[in-house]
Amino acid sequence: SAKQEGRNRFCFFSGDLEESLLQRHALELKLRHAIENDELIVVYQPKFNLKTKNIVGAEALVRMVDENNQLISPVEFIPIAEDSGLIVPLGNQVLLKACTQAAKWLKEGMPISVSVNVAAAQFADPDLEAIIIEVLNQTQLPPHYLELEITETALMGDINETQTKLSVLKGLGINISIDDFGTGYSSLSYLKKFNVDIMKIDMSFVIDMLNNTHDYEIVKTIILLGQSLSLTLIAEGVETEEQAQALMELGCGIGQGYLYSKPLRKKEFMTFLESATKNPNET
Ligand code: C2E
Ligand code: MG
Ligand code: MG
Ligand code: MG
Repeated sequence: SAKQEGRNRFCFFSGDLEESLLQRHALELKLRHAIENDELIVVYQPKFNLKTKNIVGAEALVRMVDENNQLISPVEFIPIAEDSGLIVPLGNQVLLKACTQAAKWLKEGMPISVSVNVAAAQFADPDLEAIIIEVLNQTQLPPHYLELEITETALMGDINETQTKLSVLKGLGINISIDDFGTGYSSLSYLKKFNVDIMKIDMSFVIDMLNNTHDYEIVKTIILLGQSLSLTLIAEGVETEEQAQALMELGCGIGQGYLYSKPLRKKEFMTFLESATKNPNET
């Protein structure tokens, strides 16, 4: 009957919702467990000088491992971490691991910077400065090797607070980059007041820039804007030689993407780095 169908339909949707809530809850528990037991993994994606093709830095990206030792994407658990407040301890662990690595690379003769993603809640955390000072002390990483990636949306929260916070962080000697530039809602008048060093062009514009005139023009405009603000420009999601060439011609200095390398586990990254520094002309 219609009533029966209606009820079945209702049950179907409700079952579905219940399942996704359960999955979410299960993932939150796993995440909490991983944080408490220090089981998060950090992978590193190299950034290249588009002209010289030297590695200039690496972005630290968090991963979780499941029962089968497969990596779980942050796209799945970062939103859960943000909703549950776990993002702050998660971010702090990634920061410590990334700085530990960069200090090690430096010690082994590979002076490259490391960038760490900072979520809005972490940026708003009044303890952030103290945590960074503590991590730099503990790892002995010189501050200019650390870069924080903050999205424009996180920066546009409370403008006065952002300005103060950025000055304080800059005062530590670290670098600040605006992540996913072009996808948030930034106000250009505020942007020029912010003490930032780097602008990362969101990969959504880069991926299709040679097939889509609009994307090409957006990339070009972001580069001009970055240059007029004296910022270093990094393009994300560089997948082809043609994109790298076009970006370089437009004045972008640094590229990151699958063309060069996917994010790598620390051992793989070390091997990659060693071969790149030993044979700088072959990379
Ligand atoms: P994001 O910070 O913009 O990082 C860049 C993402 O683009 C990474 O995805 C990277 O693997 C991917 N990517 C790099 N090159 C290419 C390419 O050529 N093609 C394509 N298709 N993708 C490329 P991932 O590692 O899955 O991270 C996704 C997002 O999760 C990050 O975007 C960032 O917003 C967030 N995230 C990752 N780790 C952390 C973390 O430790 N803390 C916080 N708060 N967020 C993080
Ligand atoms: Mg990033
Ligand atoms: Mg990004
Ligand atoms: Mg992104």
